[in-house]
Amino acid sequence: MLVTTLPVTVNENPSFLTLVTPFLAHVASIAFGARGMVMANTIGMKTVDHEKSADSYFRLYQSQVSGIAIDPEFCAHDGSLDYERHFNNVLARLADARMLKELKQEISWCECGRVEIPTEAARALIHQQRPKSLIEGNSLESARCKICHSGLRTDMEQTLVTTLPRITVHGIPGIYAKELETIADRIATRTVTVSRRHRGHGMCYDADFRWLPYITSLSHTEKEVVIVSSPTTLNQAVKVMALTFALDSTIQCALLVHPLIRIRDQRTALSEMSIEKFYQLVPSPLVRRFLFAASMQWTSHETLLGSEEIHLISQTAEMISSYGINDSQIAPISPEDFVHFFNRGATNRLLKAIRTSGLQPEDGRLLQLINPH
Ligand SMILES: [Zn+2]
Repeated sequence: MLVTTLPVTVNENPSFLTLVTPFLAHVASIAFGARGMVMANTIGMKTVDHEKSADSYFRLYQSQVSGIAIDPEFCAHDGSLDYERHFNNVLARLADARMLKELKQEISWCECGRVEIPTEAARALIHQQRPKSLIEGNSLESARCKICHSGLRTDMEQTLVTTLPRITVHGIPGIYAKELETIADRIATRTVTVSRRHRGHGMCYDADFRWLPYITSLSHTEKEVVIVSSPTTLNQAVKVMALTFALDSTIQCALLVHPLIRIRDQRTALSEMSIEKFYQLVPSPLVRRFLFAASMQWTSHETLLGSEEIHLISQTAEMISSYGINDSQIAPISPEDFVHFFNRGATNRLLKAIRTSGLQPEDGRLLQLINPH
C-alpha cells in the first residue's frame, strides 16, 4: 500500500495549516504499515518565479516539513527529471489509447502569460470570485490579471484535450460521500485541457494537467493507494483518481479527507500564522504533531482548537520524555478503522493519561504514531 498527498504547491512562507496534510500522510503510512510519500508541486512555482529551480523549491519544502519530524526521503516532487520522463510516457499512453483529442477553443490570456485558460473556465472563475484566482474583476470584459494588471485578450486556439472516466470514489470518512459523487459526475462530463499553444513558444503542456498523473509515478508495485486531502481540494483529488483509473485500472485509490483546523484565539491571529512563526511559537516538533492529532475530529469538516487547549498540549507533551516508550511493531490498521483509532477524542485521552501518569501499555500504539522517533 502507498499513502500520499495531492501535490502540495510550494510556497516561500505558507500558513502552518498547510502542514496538516503531510503530517496526516506520515501518520497514516505508519498506521497502515504502508510506504508513505509527500508529493510537492514545484513545476507550478516555476511559472511564478523563473529564477529559481524546481530543485531549490523542493529543498525548501523538505526543510519546511522537517519541522514536523518528516524526513526528506519521505518527499517527492514533479519538477524532477524522473517525473518529466514519466509524464512523457503518460502522454504517449494516452495517445495510444486514443484518449487525446484536438479541440479548437477560445482561450483568454494576459500579457505576462500567467493567465492562459479556456474562456469558459475564466468566466467560471470570475463568477466564483475565488480569492486565490489570478483574475480580478466582475466580468470577462473588465477582468485583469492580478500580477501584470493587463486586461484579458482572447484567441481561438488549437488545443489538446482529454476526457476522464466516471469513477466511484471511496472517501473516508463517509461525510463527504455526496459531495464526491457530485464531483465525480461533473468531472466525467467535462474536457480537461492537456496542452495549449503557448504564445511564441509552440505547444506546451498545461501546468494543471502536468502534475495530474503523479500517482502512477509514485506507485511501483503498490495496487492500493490512499490519497490524503483537505476538504478544499476534493475536486483535484477526484480528477487525480479518475486519471489514475484511466492509466491503470488495477490500482485502487481511496481518499482520506482530514478536517480543516480553525484556531480560536483572541490575542494572535494564529490561523493566519506562517510556518516560520508557528515554529518559533511552538519549538517542539512533538507538540506540533500533538496539536494536529488533537484536531482530527473526523465527524465534521472543521475542528475548532482553543488557545487554552494549545497551552495544555504544550505542557503535557513535555512530560513524555520521562516515559520509556516501547518501540514494538504496530499491527497495521485498515484505512476504515484508522479514523476510529486516531482522532481528537483518543488524543485527548492520551494527553490526560500522560498528565495523570496513568499511561497504559495499549496507549503506546497511539503515542508511537504521534511520536515516531
Ligand atoms: Zn498577467
